[in-house]
Amino acid sequence: MNYKVYNLLAEFNTNAYLLWDEVSLEAVIIDPANESKILKKEILKLKLNIKYIINTHGHGDHIGGNAFFVKSFPKSKLCIHKEDALMLLYPELNLSMYWDSGVVSPASEIQLAGGDVLKLGENELKIIHTPGHTEGGISIYVDNLVFAGDTLFARGIGRTDLPGGNYDTLINSIREKLFKLPKNTIVLPGHGSETTIGLEMAENPFVNFQTH
Ligand SMILES: [Zn+2]
Ligand SMILES: [Zn+2]
Repeated sequence: MNYKVYNLLAEFNTNAYLLWDEVSLEAVIIDPANESKILKKEILKLKLNIKYIINTHGHGDHIGGNAFFVKSFPKSKLCIHKEDALMLLYPELNLSMYWDSGVVSPASEIQLAGGDVLKLGENELKIIHTPGHTEGGISIYVDNLVFAGDTLFARGIGRTDLPGGNYDTLINSIREKLFKLPKNTIVLPGHGSETTIGLEMAENPFVNFQTH
């Protein structure tokens, strides 16, 4: 599996990821924060077949490019956890009404649940339900990579003060789900730089406060 990170929305520095299987050339876009002709061109140049567009959660800073990429790649299926699916449709739910004229996405074609598996060539993308930042937050685990959305950051965690957020739930998602992954798993968060599960287990001050 190959991946590349793009910053499509400078105000929020959201990480959009292109993830693809070199053998089948099947690919997924994770959190297209904004439309991007540059990313579209790159996908065409690599001759990738965008099978899925996946939102790790429904906040406006992660979904703003859904409409553009669904239209650009009409065979792709838009996926989000069922608990966040309505956020796609309403700026007051995805919170974009507070900074923008309002982000509205097409409806999701696939509503995900924890334990679901999406295939990319021979690879299995495992959907892990990691609520706490939003009710339908997910992480996507494949190979030695986990795309963690706004659940876990390098030395940080997602906000829990927004609607649907819950601090205890978020900490539980990180400890009981993400920290059960192998320590060398690379964490690719929704904002900021990449890290590993092992590093966050040792050094994340929010999840390891009992040792500080
Ligand atoms: Zn968020
Ligand atoms: Zn975010």
